[in-house]
This record gives sequence, structure tokens and C-alpha cells, in this order.
Amino acid sequence: MTTMSNTPKGLPLTSSRIEKIFPKLTPAQIRRVAAQGRTRSVRPGQVLIEQGDRAVPFFVVITGEVEIVRPFGASETLITVHGPGEFTGEVNMLSGRRSLVRARATKPGKVIELDHEQMLNLVQTDAELGDILMRAFILRRVELIAAGVGDIVLIGSTHSASTLRIKEFLMRNGHPYSYIDLERDLDVQSLLDNFQISTSEIPVLICRGQVVLRNPSNHQIADCLGFNESVDQTKVRDLVVIGGGPSGLAAAVYGASEGLDVLVLETSSPGGQAGSSSRIENYLGFPTGISGQDLAGRAYVQAQKFGAHMLIAKATQLVCDRKPYVIEVESGAQISAHTVLIATGVQYRKPPLENLSRFEGAGVYYGATFVEAQLFGREEEVIVVGGGNSAGQAAVFLAQTTKRVYMLVRSSGLAASMSRYLIRRIEESPNILLRTHTEIVALEGGDHLELVRWRNSQTGQIEEHKIRHIFIMTGADPNTSWLDGCIALDDKGFIKTGPDLSAENLTASRWPLARQPHLLETSFPGVFAVGDVRGGSIKRVASAVGEGSIAISFVHQVLQE
Ligand SMILES: Cc1cc2nc3c(=O)[nH]c(=O)nc-3n(C[C@H](O)[C@H](O)[C@H](O)COP(=O)(O)OP(=O)(O)OC[C@H]3O[C@@H](n4cnc5c(N)ncnc54)[C@H](O)[C@@H]3O)c2cc1C
Repeated sequence: MTTMSNTPKGLPLTSSRIEKIFPKLTPAQIRRVAAQGRTRSVRPGQVLIEQGDRAVPFFVVITGEVEIVRPFGASETLITVHGPGEFTGEVNMLSGRRSLVRARATKPGKVIELDHEQMLNLVQTDAELGDILMRAFILRRVELIAAGVGDIVLIGSTHSASTLRIKEFLMRNGHPYSYIDLERDLDVQSLLDNFQISTSEIPVLICRGQVVLRNPSNHQIADCLGFNESVDQTKVRDLVVIGGGPSGLAAAVYGASEGLDVLVLETSSPGGQAGSSSRIENYLGFPTGISGQDLAGRAYVQAQKFGAHMLIAKATQLVCDRKPYVIEVESGAQISAHTVLIATGVQYRKPPLENLSRFEGAGVYYGATFVEAQLFGREEEVIVVGGGNSAGQAAVFLAQTTKRVYMLVRSSGLAASMSRYLIRRIEESPNILLRTHTEIVALEGGDHLELVRWRNSQTGQIEEHKIRHIFIMTGADPNTSWLDGCIALDDKGFIKTGPDLSAENLTASRWPLARQPHLLETSFPGVFAVGDVRGGSIKRVASAVGEGSIAISFVHQVLQE
């Protein structure tokens, strides 16, 4: 057996909060846990949880010891040893996903065992134990991620876009993994030989030491890790939320906490656009800012705590002419729901630059607010890409705090739709330099953008500038193409709701009720739209969260109709 450290606990912790990661329950707390489950004896060597088991039980050690190990092939890595008063589990215990580890008794003793439902009931009804367990589960997951202790190994290359995609998928789903870089690890060839993989099939993902996936899609990875297995796809849900960004997660938290049976469908990972923000500084309650990843991770765990489920799946169609409504997903499965909440957000139009996503939040931004303006000093030059109103506003705003703003537009001038006042301001600002017929062709840098090359399409001339900040303001498209004409949209493809729906819209969708649509309700009763995908919405985290929460009160009303 390989021990990760020589400390009695095994895992070398990144946090000093050991008493929060491995808390000892008091006798009174143990009695409350015992009241929910059963007490049983264990013998040395008895495996209580096997790696890969689903919806695993929760154990509190009363006497004896339970060790937690990560098996890999024939060897094991010791993660920790739970003594009396300590308990097993990390965030997979809430989601019912497969266990990353093996739990085994090492001494004769007694444990309290709670099944998955009993454990969920405990965290939802006992506030004190709920706090202790939730905090420990989240902190343990953080430690597993930091130590790369998971049930998968990724073998890839830093120069491969697919490797980056898979890393992002795993990271944003909070799934720990070990990474082997082909360029750095020379012994890796023997590992590849063991699994008969040629270098052309990179990146490779090995699940639980058994299944080998060659350059897998996100969907294949989700299947292999069993992300979706714990979700019953045949049940008719009270509410299906489509999109796991801030608005969808808020709806899931409020809906599930108010007793609704909620299922969230998400194409890739919880967090949406906000999940890609390195620091959100304007969200209420976080004076020092919070990374989008942290906010999304916490919201996701919160939704799970209240019993919401998430399916990693892309919604491909809404069948809205029958009730319950049916949502078809990429795999072909059909999910039924009494009410539906569309929270699919928008996709910013992006220039086709190979390494653009690498610099998002680290030199490439899609909004220019005071937050971004604080990222650089008066001596810096910045670029605004786009010729519409949002680009014009950004250029005028940034010109006040920087040395020079290059405004790059593909066409021969500023968009015809740009307001006159903005055009005048741009013309009157000596430090805004308009470059027409110009497109960015390359970005370079390390952890942060450092250098930009742009090209004039008429002359073919390429210029190189040491610029660290680019604002891409070329508009955003709503993620509504999959609705296929089912729901009334505005002329830009955003979903119309409540008072924005015209009499013609309601006639076209055969609105069947005497009442008018609720605020946030679409042209179909019980189908709501919230967040960035909704016509007229404010494109902010706080407003998305607000709309997701408000919609739940209307969902209750519709369910009683
Ligand atoms: C880099 C960046 C930084 C930002 N910084 C800030 C900031 O500091 N402060 C602030 O207030 N706002 C910020 N914003 C804006 C903010 O993130 C958005 O307004 C907010 O995320 C909108 O939330 P949403 O839930 O409506 O949509 P989104 O966040 O867009 O989430 C939509 C989700 O739906 C999923 N989805 C789409 N189609 C489907 C489908 N067919 N099936 C299943 N799932 C689907 C997507 O994968 C995505 O996860 C930032 C945006 C970006 C891009």
C-alpha cells in the first residue's frame, strides 16, 4: 500500500482546518444520528463501501476504526483513518454518484449506518449536524481535488485543446483526477502500452482503472463516471430546469427547498457563464469577491442538499403541445415535467481564435465594468472588439481610465446602429483609435494575455502589440435554437415572457387559460424563462439569481391550477 504521507491521517492536507475536515461528533450528536439509522458490528477487513458503489451509506464510527483508501489496480493509497466519533463521506454522498474510494474496517468495532435517503433527511432536518456534515463533505472534496485523488487518470498534453476541454469539464464539475502530462512524464509510455493506446489517441481517460476512453466527449465522460446513473429519468418531475447557470441553480435551490421534485439538465457543468469568471466582485454578500467556480460549486451542493438532481445532458427539444411537457435530451431520453424553467443563458459571439478560452478572465473579457477597469492602470493600452453600441460604450468608458483604446471593427466603420452620441464621443476622444477592416489573428501569453496580433483585411498588414486586455463586445446569441419555434421569441431570439407577450403570441400558442401569463412565464402555461435567455433581462449574476428564485413562487401557483 502507498501512503500519501506519514501522518496518521494519510492525506497531506492543504488546509489547517483539520477539525472541520475530520470533525468528531459529540455523544449527543451521535445519539441523534443513531436515531435515524441502525447500529451494527464490523470486523477487521470488512469492506463497507467499494469504489464505484452508488448511493453509498453513511457511517459514523462508534468503536474501532474505518480506513479510507483509493484503489488503483492492485495497489491502494491511504487517504484517512476514521476513529470513534468520526464519519465517512464527501460530496458524492449527497448526489448519490459513485464512490471515489473504498472504506474498510481495520479493527473490530461498531458503526452507525444510514442509507442515502436517511442521510439526506438528517442534513435537511438537523441544522447543527447538517452544517458539520456539509462543511466536512465540501472540504474533503476540495482536498481530494488538490491532491488529485479521484477515480480517474487523464493522460494528455498541454498543447492539446481536447486535454484542456476535459480538464475544464472535470474541474468545473468538481471531479478530482490525476493528470499525467505526456511531454513531462517519460514513463508514461509504459502505462499507455499497458492499455494498448497509441499516441494519436491522446488524450486518454482511464476510469476506475478499468474503462479506457480515447479523446472522449463530455457526454462519454459523464457516462463513464456515472454522473447520470443516480437520476431517475422516467419520473414526471414537478419542475425541470434547463440550464445550470446562476438562474437555473437559484431555481433549483428555491424549488427543492420548498418541497418540489426538481431536476436540472445541464450540457456541461454547473455555473454557466458565471462559472468562467475568475472573480465576481459585484454579487451581494461577497465584499472581497468570489470566483465563479466557487459560487457555482456552493450553489450546486446547496441544491443537492435540498434534494434537487442534475443530469449532465443537453436539451434538444421541448415538446410543448401536450402535458406533462416533455423535454428530449441528446441521448434520446425523454424527461417529463409538470412545469419547465428555461435558463439556458446566452453564448457570447467569439472570434475564432484557437487559444481564446485560455485567456478568458485573464486578459479576455465580455463586459467592461468598473470591476474590469480596475484590472489595469492608466499607462496600459486595451482593445475593444466590435462596432455596436455595447462596444462603443465600453470604448468610451475605458478611455477614461487607460492610456489608449484600440477599437477594432471588421467592417468599414462603426455599426449603423450605433447611437449618434456614442459616435461623437468616440470621435472626440483622442485616445480612442478606430481600426477598420481589422481582425485579431493571434493571442499569446502565459497565465495571462501578453501579446496581440491583428491584421488589416484590405492591406494584409499584421501589427503586433504588447496588450494585456481585450474586451470582446460583438454581441451574444441566446441559447434558444433548440426550442424550434415552440415558444414565442423576440426578434433577436430571446424568450418573451409575461407582459412582453402580445395577444398574437398567445393566440399562436393557443394560450388556454383565462388568466394572463405570470411575470417570467412564456407563451405556454407553466413554462418559464429566467436569466440571460429572457428578453429584456439584465445580464448580471444577481438578476439571474433573482429571477430564478422569483419564478418558483409562480411554479407553485401553476402546480395548483
Ligand atoms: C467571463 C464573464 C464574466 C462575468 N462576470 C460577471 C460579474 O462579475 N458580475 C456579474 O453580475 N455578471 C457577470 N457576468 C455575466 C453573468 O455571468 C451572466 O449574466 C449570468 O451567468 C447569467 O446566468 P444564466 O443562468 O441566465 O445563464 P448562463 O450563465 O449563461 O447559464 C446557462 C447554462 O445553460 C446551459 N445550457 C445552454 N443550453 C443548454 C441546453 N440546450 N441544455 C442544457 N443546458 C444548456 C449552459 O451550459 C449554461 O451552463 C460575466 C459573464 C462572463 C462570460
